[in-house]
Parts: sequence; C-alpha cells; structure tokens
Amino acid sequence: MSSNGTRVVSCPTCAKPVRWEAANRYRPFCSERCKLIDLGEWATESYRIPDAGIPEDAEPDKPTLT
Ligand SMILES: [Zn+2]
Repeated sequence: MSSNGTRVVSCPTCAKPVRWEAANRYRPFCSERCKLIDLGEWATESYRIPDAGIPEDAEPDKPTLT
C-alpha cells in the first residue's frame, strides 16, 4: 500500500469531498461551519461566522439544444 497521496473523505454535514490532511483542522468536515453544524453549535447564537462568500461551482444555465 502506498501512503503517498491525500485521502479524500466526504464531509459528514454537506457531503463535499474533504482532503484528509494535517492542514485541514476541521477534518473530516470541509469547514468550521460544517463542523459546528454537526456539533449542534451552529444553532446557538453565541457563535457566528460571517459569510465568507464561498465560491460554488458554476452550473451550466444554458443547456445546449441540438
Ligand atoms: Zn461540509
């Protein structure tokens, strides 16, 4: 087995692919937000995270008609 390469897991909250690496302190979550959601802390108003404007994958809004 090769230990080279980064393992990718799915975020338990939003199912996004998350790279399991030391740099990702929120693993297995994709972000602090998802981690807090899973912990149930997101519901509390004592912890707020500003919307950082996470870029989303652009969806093709104009289907090609042939
Ligand atoms: Zn997530």
